[in-house]
Amino acid sequence: MNTPAGIPSGTCRDTPVLKERGQREVFCGLTGIIWLHRKMQDAFFLVIGSRTCAHLLQSAAGVMIFAEPRFGTAILEETDLAGMADAHEELDREVARLLSRRPDIKQLFLVGSCPSEVIKLDLTRAAERLTVEHAPHVRVLNYSGSGIETTFTQGEDACLASMVPVLPSIDQRELMLVGALPDVVEDQAVSLLTQMGIGPIRVLPAPRASDTPGVGPNTVFACLQPFLGDTAAALTRRGATMISAPFPFGEEGTTLWLRAIADEFGVDDETFDRVTAAPRARARKAIANASAALQGKTIFFMPDSQLEIPLARFLTRECGMEAIEVGQPFIHKGLVGPDLDLMPAGPTISEGQDVDKQLDRVRAARPDLTVCGLGLANPLEAEGLTTKWAIELVFTPVHFYEQAGDLAGLFSRPIRRRALLKLEAA
Ligand code: SF4
Repeated sequence: MNTPAGIPSGTCRDTPVLKERGQREVFCGLTGIIWLHRKMQDAFFLVIGSRTCAHLLQSAAGVMIFAEPRFGTAILEETDLAGMADAHEELDREVARLLSRRPDIKQLFLVGSCPSEVIKLDLTRAAERLTVEHAPHVRVLNYSGSGIETTFTQGEDACLASMVPVLPSIDQRELMLVGALPDVVEDQAVSLLTQMGIGPIRVLPAPRASDTPGVGPNTVFACLQPFLGDTAAALTRRGATMISAPFPFGEEGTTLWLRAIADEFGVDDETFDRVTAAPRARARKAIANASAALQGKTIFFMPDSQLEIPLARFLTRECGMEAIEVGQPFIHKGLVGPDLDLMPAGPTISEGQDVDKQLDRVRAARPDLTVCGLGLANPLEAEGLTTKWAIELVFTPVHFYEQAGDLAGLFSRPIRRRALLKLEAA
């Protein structure tokens, strides 16, 4: 929809999406294990994969590998698959060895990967067989972290979605928060909602199998991350109702996310304002301090973390930035629609990637900041463009009021660094 003067009107929800299906540069879904294993303290992630998968996990996990690890890789070579029956037997033996050594494991995830030998293995059947064998002590589930099927944040979605069919059935009304956030951030959200009188509040994933929430027709849930589309669909199939809202990034996003839940639970305005007034004021002040360098600057998001649309909403509305293009690996309007509604039409909204074409658009636009994957950042920096690694946004606490200033700071730091380098060079 355009105005007579040719200026786009409406919001980004109305903007036709530029869909690209070419070569893409993203990490695979195995990456999610790095944050999921910290969150789920009695879970173990057994990747059925190749040496490449083992290397990815070890280098991404860094020093964690020297701690008592809660993930590992069962490496399948082509020769292992001389017969599929042998591969299943080998997997059963590997799992039995692991579980006898580690009685602390209560949930075991078999995580599929890309190699064709792995794709041929029926991990769903394996998980069912192993659940029967190791019941009631251990529940065995499976999901795919393959780079062919998933971007790096979809690993979490696939993991949580695999848990939903086996959640206990309940009838009572409960609020479920969905997504794996650092404990300190999750505690802030639960505390704000509890102060409003909302409860009981359950979280998926729970820290321990024994705390796993139930689900039923009176469950209402709110996603903490915009990449949990499959999990949301699975919960809906179990009868739960999703609360739709902008995601809790920045002061505005956090307030609207809390407000949507408060409305669902009948919280009055006075209570809402009493609970949120002080943290809102702190968030506004922190954002104002951290975003000075962002005012009037342009930003280009390449598709990577699935956080792009909510972050573009935060940066354009609360930090004074102008978005040129906002790319997401895929766009689920059921989840990010409320964020799109808040952004005036103007930026290109793209889904998927054709990396060379997109790089051409970056070079033509020469944005002040480009958010992209690690592999693209160095070449762009070498061309004089300032970049931000998308993966940092997933590994850093950025949700809710108390982290809003840090979130703005993640984007302003590279811009300030570039300005300093220019000054020194002058
Ligand atoms: Fe590579 Fe695929 Fe293994 Fe990921 S799952 S590390 S993309 S081989």
